[in-house]
Amino acid sequence: MTPSADLDTTGDGKQPNCTEWCSARHAADPACWGADEHKVLLSVEKSYPDAEVGAYAYRQTPAHREVVYLHVYRPDDNDFRDLDASVHLTADEARGLAEHLIAVVDEIGGKQ
Ligand SMILES: [Zn+2]
Repeated sequence: MTPSADLDTTGDGKQPNCTEWCSARHAADPACWGADEHKVLLSVEKSYPDAEVGAYAYRQTPAHREVVYLHVYRPDDNDFRDLDASVHLTADEARGLAEHLIAVVDEIGGKQ
């Protein structure tokens, strides 16, 4: 992406009011995004090799709160049937979800 002149006043693609964790290059999108490394491929979804669930630090604009952006993606041969959904969670909600995920993993005995 090429930084937008009206958003990028620092010359490095950052906005003057970027979050500390922002790794976005901010073209026309004012949203701050965290690292693109917190995601897992969904091996049970064998028919959809690119299916994944990811979590990202996210702030839509400086006027919005920082949240955890939870993204579920499962492509399909038919574009109208792609699953491409997201929800925003507060830090407490994301921490609660993480605890519940671990509890459910323990409930099934950690089986693969
Ligand atoms: Zn930013």
